[in-house]
Amino acid sequence: MIYKIATIPGDGIGPEVIAEAVKILNVIGEKYNHEFEFNYVTAGGCAIDEFGVPLPEETLKACKESDSVLLGAVGGPKWDDPTAKVRPEQALLGLRGELGLFANLRPAVLYEPLKDASPLKPSLVAEGIDIMVVRELTGGIYFGERGRLEENGVEAAYDTEKYNVNEIERIVKLGFETAMKRSKKLMCVDKANILESSRLWRQVVARLAKDYPEVTVDHMYVDNAAMQLVRKPSQFDVIVTSNIFGDILSDEASMVTGSIGMLPSASLGSTNLGMYEPIHGSAPDIAGKGIANPLATILSTAMMLKYSFGLVKEAEEIDNAVLKVLSAGYRTGDIISEGKTLVGTVEMGNLVAEAIKEGK
Ligand code: NAD
Repeated sequence: MIYKIATIPGDGIGPEVIAEAVKILNVIGEKYNHEFEFNYVTAGGCAIDEFGVPLPEETLKACKESDSVLLGAVGGPKWDDPTAKVRPEQALLGLRGELGLFANLRPAVLYEPLKDASPLKPSLVAEGIDIMVVRELTGGIYFGERGRLEENGVEAAYDTEKYNVNEIERIVKLGFETAMKRSKKLMCVDKANILESSRLWRQVVARLAKDYPEVTVDHMYVDNAAMQLVRKPSQFDVIVTSNIFGDILSDEASMVTGSIGMLPSASLGSTNLGMYEPIHGSAPDIAGKGIANPLATILSTAMMLKYSFGLVKEAEEIDNAVLKVLSAGYRTGDIISEGKTLVGTVEMGNLVAEAIKEGK
């Protein structure tokens, strides 16, 4: 079977890390007899330079016609003016909206060989970190009504958190499905003591919980969740939450693992078409130097194989190969520690490729 992958290298280190991810998919393809077809298209700052828009029509069309989308990163100082009419990140919002990607899956894993990388005390991470944040991506306050007004001669502004039952249902359902594939524990994070929209979330969670009797459901207020993530991260498995809470908590969860260059993400909708990208940005400070960590992008391809193509064994093979290379002591500059072997972007990709070839 041929899997068509719209490939968007983007800006900064994007092309460097994408090259390694493509290398890994090709190795998997050879080993398991799959054909991956990469259709390279432009988005972000480089698209603004070339076409005047961050998300050209041709790119969007290619993504819609593909089985999944692989993205490096977009943005950089050249296009960073927040008042500019066209900005690189509009490409991401456009892709999510146009492809109907309403869910963002963000794993935060502390790999055993990288335990030292966590900024938390060793005693706090002794039990490990393996969290999956399931964040709603196309609703809530980021998309609700907003505006400016005057109140008794004083300038004011407002943003609105609004969710309808269908929007909540589809993301909570994905939370339950994700929990079923992991340890069957689901933490619903909200602010139901204050927000009416959170109370509606709880109603929907209670109704759907009846369809998943094996899943243990807990609720936590977002302020407490922010605290618990640094107090005892091992208590969390799957977290399901709204757009704004997920935005903040997923960044916090990734920070406690200590290595931004290691974390992948998946944006999913109601079809198999998903968008896969590392959580880091375009890292302009190290772009072009051949030192970026490609593992977050490589691990994003594992998520693609699992969630878009249903190739679970192949996905595990990539995860295992990454662990093997880390266990053997190889590190890029962002995760280096004493006594370990420093490697560059391409070498790291080669090591993972070799580990896959050698794997049973
Ligand atoms: P960043 O993630 O690009 O970089 C933060 C720090 O982490 C930098 O010091 C960088 O060198 C380092 N880093 C990031 N990824 C790394 C990797 N793979 N290997 C080694 N080191 C790595 O965040 P930033 O500096 O805030 O943003 C830079 C640009 O990226 C901005 O224009 C921003 O808008 C954009 N951005 C894009 C995305 C995206 O495309 N999804 C996400 C975040 C930021």
